[in-house]
Amino acid sequence: MRLSRRDLLKGAAVAGAATALAAEAEAREPVPGRPDALGMLFDSTLCVGCRACQTACKAANDLPADAVAAGGGVYDAPSDLNATTKNVIKSFGDGGARHQYMKQQCMHCVDPSCVSVCMMGALHKEGEGKRLLDFEQKNGSGVVLYDKGLCVGCRYCQIGCAFNVPKFEWNDALPRIVKCELCRHRGDPRKTGPLAVANPACCEVCPRGAIVFGRREELLAKARARLAGDPGRYNPRIFGETDGGGTQVLYLTAAGVSFQDLGLPSLPEESSAHFSETVSHAPYLHGVTPVALYAAMAFVISRNKKKEGEGQ
Ligand code: SF4
Ligand code: SF4
Ligand code: SF4
Repeated sequence: MRLSRRDLLKGAAVAGAATALAAEAEAREPVPGRPDALGMLFDSTLCVGCRACQTACKAANDLPADAVAAGGGVYDAPSDLNATTKNVIKSFGDGGARHQYMKQQCMHCVDPSCVSVCMMGALHKEGEGKRLLDFEQKNGSGVVLYDKGLCVGCRYCQIGCAFNVPKFEWNDALPRIVKCELCRHRGDPRKTGPLAVANPACCEVCPRGAIVFGRREELLAKARARLAGDPGRYNPRIFGETDGGGTQVLYLTAAGVSFQDLGLPSLPEESSAHFSETVSHAPYLHGVTPVALYAAMAFVISRNKKKEGEGQ
């Protein structure tokens, strides 16, 4: 397509408005982590790739196998998250000393963009938002939950997620979004406090203790203790402590291998939700046209997509 000078000038004007909106992004306060937030710590140096967690996740969530026929047998062998896979173990490396297995599932972000972009409130953090169930008033786990009854299938959450987590049931007549909810359904909502969430199936079955369930603060302390106890073993940083505004699922990985080499995106400390929500509010403050808003949102989306690409 050929662009005229006028088109370029128009584009520059829109970009300028979007930049002004982006500058406004500092106005929205960052969301702090909840003291009672629940999450998981995955230590890739302990994982042996047995995939027992994958199988347990499917059983706990009543999801069918991704059948792959090989060597006369049929195996449940998903290579990525999909509409029947909420948890996947991926393999990185050449089988040598630096070979690593990585677990991927919803990160239960501290300030999740999937929640931010969902106009129906179909995604929310447990204990936050306007549509709280009674027991949630007491349970502030921060787990990102999904309510199919409120979802209209717009799939904005898929675009907004920097970790490429939410999947859509394309083959279902009444499709829904599929993602890990930290096995919240295994808990007892009649209990109070974070322990109303049971030990997730993946953590329960791991024979190596590579995935640990608990409060985020305790998991961070555990991760720091491991780093201090054996600094030569680990990448010196905990992924998720600040990345993308922080996540409730945290990663420790081996020394000499970057997070991006293991499929994790490179994210700023500011969450995408923090950025995009302030941008979306700016037009009402300054009377800027929706075109500028769309340009700004396109920027956010392309930023996420670029990061997703860098992380592969
Ligand atoms: S990883 Fe994606 S789906 Fe999960 S909470 Fe974060 S933004 Fe939402
Ligand atoms: S917490 Fe539950 S749903 Fe999430 S990955 Fe683990 S087993 Fe699967
Ligand atoms: S069960 Fe544990 S050791 Fe096995 S693949 Fe999952 S995280 Fe790794």
